[in-house]
Amino acid sequence: MKSSSTGGVDPWDTSRYLNIWITSNLWKPYLIGNILGYAQFPGGDPNTDGIVVDYKYFGKTGLQNGRIGTHEIGHYLNLRHTWGDGPNLPNGGSNGCNHDDFVSDTPNSDSPGNCNIGRQTCGSVDMVDNYMDYGNCSSLFTKGQKSRMRTILSPGGPREDLAVAECHWCLDNINVTQSVSMGTTNTKQARIAITASNSIALGSQAIYHAEQEVLLTANFEALKGSVFRAHIDWCSATYVSKTSETQSGDTIGVNSLNTGLQIYPNPTENTLNIKLRNQNFNNATVQIYNLNGATVYSNTITKDNRNRLKLNVSNFQSGMYIIKVINDNGEVFTDKMIKE
Ligand SMILES: [Zn+2]
Repeated sequence: MKSSSTGGVDPWDTSRYLNIWITSNLWKPYLIGNILGYAQFPGGDPNTDGIVVDYKYFGKTGLQNGRIGTHEIGHYLNLRHTWGDGPNLPNGGSNGCNHDDFVSDTPNSDSPGNCNIGRQTCGSVDMVDNYMDYGNCSSLFTKGQKSRMRTILSPGGPREDLAVAECHWCLDNINVTQSVSMGTTNTKQARIAITASNSIALGSQAIYHAEQEVLLTANFEALKGSVFRAHIDWCSATYVSKTSETQSGDTIGVNSLNTGLQIYPNPTENTLNIKLRNQNFNNATVQIYNLNGATVYSNTITKDNRNRLKLNVSNFQSGMYIIKVINDNGEVFTDKMIKE
């Protein structure tokens, strides 16, 4: 179900999306009876992460007040059943009261309440109308459950990217300084630019999206055996109208990620000529940064009759720079430039 190779549907990036598979005839060999849905707790296999709901119980109809999806998302965000999944399913003895759901404001109970209002199993009234019980009266999460779910989505939590990934598009600029460790995938998105000064370890993956540029500082490195991809793409709903990509081989220093910009001579001593493949512009803003990201030059230049922007760099200090050109159509180009 969860893989196209076995006739199902591959998930979207499970670090950024909650995947919901809607299917029929759920069956698991170790359980008897109907299965309405199930979920994967945080920290599991990313290839199967998400929830599954039988189509008969999806939406506003069906058992549990039509809230099977709510219940499964509760599991997905680390909630246990209110009775703590003790050993005495479905109608256990007193030992079930020793099993907690790790939430302090859900009263202890020893088995599913199934909407038996007023039922007491562990010395207090069971909260049978909680979404993490079973039955057709589900209507609430507690504050404790809410905070347990939010912890999962908070910075440092196992599903933090789910909460912030989309929002990253709202951030204009992101500085990435934290290294990506082996076996992990790091995805970042910025509306304008990402500046990376981190290290991408062997056996890890980093994928950075920005509308205008992914700037790799001198401290950035993608070590051999890692995968690094930088995408310059638009963040509209159906994005990726323009993509350039670089793939790591050996350690990467500074890369030019856009095509369409030509600067020459490079290295240069006095005059730098800048050409854009798309010549349909009159003026362009040229910005030059040093490798610490500080702006050392910014000016708007009108192209000459050979479609060149000319810039005198004779008073620049020797070294490497990042040059960024924005033409009056709003197109952005970056490259590296070396001053002799
Ligand atoms: Zn459940």
